[in-house]
Amino acid sequence: MILNNFQTTLEYAKELDKEDSLKDFREEFYLKPGSIYMDGNSLGLLSKRAERTLLESLEDWKEHGIDGWTQGNHPWFFMAEELGKKLSTLVGGSAEEVIVTGSTTVNLHQLVSTFYTPDGIRTKILADELTFPSDIYALQSELRIHGYDQDQHLIRVKSRDGRFLEEDDIIEAMTDDVALIVLPTVLYRSGQILDIKRLTEAAHNKGILIGFDACHSAGSIPHYFSDWDVDFAFWCNYKHLNGGPGGVGGLFVNKRHFGKMPGLAGWFSSAKEKQFDMEHTLTPAQSAGAFQIGTPHVLSVAPLIGSLEIFTEAGIENIRQKSLKINQYLINLIDTELADMGFFIGTPREDARRGGHVSLEHNEAARICKSLKENGIIPDFRAPNIIRLAPVALYTSYEEVWKVVQILKTIMTEKQYERFKNEREVVA
Ligand SMILES: *Cc1c(COP(=O)(O)O)cnc(C)c1O
Repeated sequence: MILNNFQTTLEYAKELDKEDSLKDFREEFYLKPGSIYMDGNSLGLLSKRAERTLLESLEDWKEHGIDGWTQGNHPWFFMAEELGKKLSTLVGGSAEEVIVTGSTTVNLHQLVSTFYTPDGIRTKILADELTFPSDIYALQSELRIHGYDQDQHLIRVKSRDGRFLEEDDIIEAMTDDVALIVLPTVLYRSGQILDIKRLTEAAHNKGILIGFDACHSAGSIPHYFSDWDVDFAFWCNYKHLNGGPGGVGGLFVNKRHFGKMPGLAGWFSSAKEKQFDMEHTLTPAQSAGAFQIGTPHVLSVAPLIGSLEIFTEAGIENIRQKSLKINQYLINLIDTELADMGFFIGTPREDARRGGHVSLEHNEAARICKSLKENGIIPDFRAPNIIRLAPVALYTSYEEVWKVVQILKTIMTEKQYERFKNEREVVA
């Protein structure tokens, strides 16, 4: 993206803020005075609307007791489906293809236990060596449950440079012994977006099912899972979607697979009208709802109701446009203000290949992050050498991004980071 008349001045940042059509949403979030939050890709901030719907759900419990399942502000029995409908526009599925349930890792287990059906020589699962560890642990354990050797049966596509994946390399690894593919939409370190459409087409040409972990793209970029014909996807709602710490996740299942028995079944997998017949034969919902297991975690879903209102109003295409622009602004500032200070931008430069954060590499990254925190900036560190900075479309201003880079510059020129140890914290 080219920024018109880019300048490094504060006036230019203020100009961009003035033109920002999403700027009013910032008022809706709890931003801490004197602090700049650059970690919305790890844990999104609380909005007033999310707080309101959580309190309303508590009120429903207080007021209605057991009848809260069907009465009150947000009847619990239909919450997962209602929210699935709202989320479906963000991921590009039909209302029935999306459900709010579980967590990322639990949903991955659910989907793999449903769609991984080794047959003949097709026994392997294809993933990549840069993916989030939880996904790998889950895939390894699913292989073990099937009695397979986790090392022989899990293929991890290699990265050529430790940052990015090449779609060509992934496609080459789609051999006849692969039963299932699980890949990220956006890589959690470098922020690279994979070409989901192309990978899905290639997988299907080879008769392989394919699913995506959308943790780092949900709420930040538009998806077209139905049109791309993806078999399944799963994500958390607490990063860009601001659903709250440990908030309930989401999943997408292509309608082509409706009616399939869930690998991990429970009474909430039932067709809703059948559930309370209490039969011992499961009639699965003819929707993504079939991939729920037990009672929804109502109080951990409730903030998402309010949060999604904001996304509906702002529009995911507008969010993506601002995200691209403000991330580009950050990249331009790093290029000009932090040149020759040992930084490297480990995020793709092309718009179509970058997600919602910038990965800034530096040998002293851990200490620089501690220094940033001391200066009131909340970054995110990924060992061994990555500072992730996420200017979030809904609540980060261009002026804040400008300040972050100015402070980074001061930290480097004054060598403030040398006061800290170059090692990570328990939660980094
Ligand atoms: C955040 C994240 C997870 C976390 O999974 P949980 O089950 O919510 O703890 C998994 N995968 C990726 C790619 C993530 O970014």
